[in-house]
Amino acid sequence: MDISIIGGGITGLTTALALHKSGVASKVYEQAASLNEIGAGVWLQPNAVQILHWLGLKEAVLNKGCALDKMEITYPNLKPIKKIRKAVVEDQYGNQTIAIHRGKLQRILYEKCEQLQMVALGEPYIDHQNDEGKVQLQFKNKSIPADIVLGADGIKSRVRKAMGLPTEFRQTRQICCRGIVNITLPNHLKRVGKEVWGDKRRFGFSQLSPDSVYFFIVLNREICPKEFSKPSLSALFKDFDPIIAKIIEASGDMHRTELIDLKRLDTWYNSNACLLGDAAHATTPNMGQGACQGIEDAFYISRYLKEADSPQDAFKAFEIQRRKKVDYVVNNSWNFGRMVHNRAGQMLLKAMMKITPEKIVDKQMNMLYAVDGL
Ligand SMILES: Cc1cc2nc3c(=O)[nH]c(=O)nc-3n(C[C@H](O)[C@H](O)[C@H](O)COP(=O)(O)OP(=O)(O)OC[C@H]3O[C@@H](n4cnc5c(N)ncnc54)[C@H](O)[C@@H]3O)c2cc1C
Repeated sequence: MDISIIGGGITGLTTALALHKSGVASKVYEQAASLNEIGAGVWLQPNAVQILHWLGLKEAVLNKGCALDKMEITYPNLKPIKKIRKAVVEDQYGNQTIAIHRGKLQRILYEKCEQLQMVALGEPYIDHQNDEGKVQLQFKNKSIPADIVLGADGIKSRVRKAMGLPTEFRQTRQICCRGIVNITLPNHLKRVGKEVWGDKRRFGFSQLSPDSVYFFIVLNREICPKEFSKPSLSALFKDFDPIIAKIIEASGDMHRTELIDLKRLDTWYNSNACLLGDAAHATTPNMGQGACQGIEDAFYISRYLKEADSPQDAFKAFEIQRRKKVDYVVNNSWNFGRMVHNRAGQMLLKAMMKITPEKIVDKQMNMLYAVDGL
């Protein structure tokens, strides 16, 4: 079976490695001619870490990243709104959340794929047609046949377009910028992910490596300065803990975007094509689960392509398996983001956090971190 994966991001590369581990060959086609370590950080939660462990990559990821003992939502003075137990950031097997530079994670996955000769760079996909049970893939400079195409080409997916599936984005009216700074955090903040809530603004950060810190800022559009400069950002966070001013002061290039997600697709597959990761279900980042869900897709699609009698049976089983959790993540993330950035909503969230029994929180986390069949 010839499987072509379009897109060499976290989802596409992990999918190729998961298929390989399941004894199924595939090849990744990535448009970029080289992978540069640009981008910011990601927090990989235990569901993703379990799968990286299954792929034999957890140690490599830990070596390049930083395991976090706690994730806390806090007031501007960094005092937690509710003390969160370690169980919330760690699954029953001891897999903790890991903060890592997105580019470094991609590099780890890419190098493994490259060793196995499973990846081609500089190959922009244009289109595909279905042709008597096969697909004909059109790249910028060549055309190749395949049995299956997996679209892991991100939120603006061309594979989705070629499949005739709709592309509608939901705008949050929230502007986000992210960056990495070369500073060291004080010891008590070294292994903690913090998300600090203010009025219509949020600031998140964690250690990424011994000498670097990942941060993100989310602002309602109406309070967002026209120019993102150190003085304009410092002014917005002047009443917050001084560590935030220190991070802003050390910042350089920042990736500024409006937060959006992809309106729910009725299906992720047709004919011999199936979408994965952000191409299928791009989410707002409020639950820190976008890449984690792409990594879960990789695990399950490899299992079903190995076991099912036909690609369509595999895609159907994959969608049945994944729908509930993906919808849960996308919807909760969307609602959470809206509430945090609205005064009344934020008050309600804080009250809910304080009164929700730990048993219920544990149940939610267990559901989020569970990967069936690992
Ligand atoms: C502010 C922010 C913070 C986030 N924080 C977290 C976090 O803490 N934890 C987490 O899990 N997730 C987080 N995410 C989400 C995460 O970054 C994405 O969900 C994840 O990177 C998606 O991976 P992907 O491989 O599906 O898509 P992408 O990363 O978009 O990769 C798609 C790949 O396909 C390639 N491609 C595109 N078109 C073509 C083409 N025509 N031909 C060939 N190749 C093509 C691209 O070059 C790219 O390499 C965050 C996102 C944002 C915006």
